[in-house]
This record gives sequence, C-alpha cells and structure tokens, in this order.
Amino acid sequence: MKIKKGDIVLVISGNYKGKKGKVREVITKDKRLVIEGINLRKVHTKPVKTGEPGGILEKELPVSFSNVKFVCPSCGKPTRVGFMFLEDKRKVRCCKKCNEVIE
Ligand SMILES: [Zn+2]
Repeated sequence: MKIKKGDIVLVISGNYKGKKGKVREVITKDKRLVIEGINLRKVHTKPVKTGEPGGILEKELPVSFSNVKFVCPSCGKPTRVGFMFLEDKRKVRCCKKCNEVIE
C-alpha cells in the first residue's frame, strides 16, 4: 500500500475535488481512505441512555483510492509514489517529482 495513515492527499473527483486532507485511516481491503474533513455526512445518532437526546454527528465517509492523489510533503505537489532502497537496504517511499524520501 503506497498511501499511509498521516499522509496528505488531494481529492481529484467528486464534491470535494481540489481539497486536501490528512489520511485518518486506510481501509486496505476496500481500497478506501478516511480523510480528515473530506466526504462529511451527517449521521443521526440515537441516545445511548433513555432520556438523553439523540444528535446529529458529522462523520467522514471513506473515499476510494482512485479519487485521491498523494501530495508530497517535500515539494507539496500531487505526485505518484515510488519506492527506493536506502544504503542500509531499507525500502522507502519516494516522490516521483522531487525524488525526496517520504518517511
Ligand atoms: Zn516531492
């Protein structure tokens, strides 16, 4: 998986097109991501205890991987993620635009 929790991504289609957000969760099996502040839906909650009011929460719904692009923390551009090996043989992600290592 190339995108990880904590990465910044750019939404490239749908209602949130052009917006950036931080990845809160990666759902590998569904190829989806939960992104902070992106794809908010109002969710009605039921009271937990009798007598408490129910409420409306704004919840982030997962976005498909194909609708986002990774944003490089070094050059700030939407880019593809590559892989490279460091001198100590560690495999790390890197930016295809500026070649910076992405930790
Ligand atoms: Zn870059």
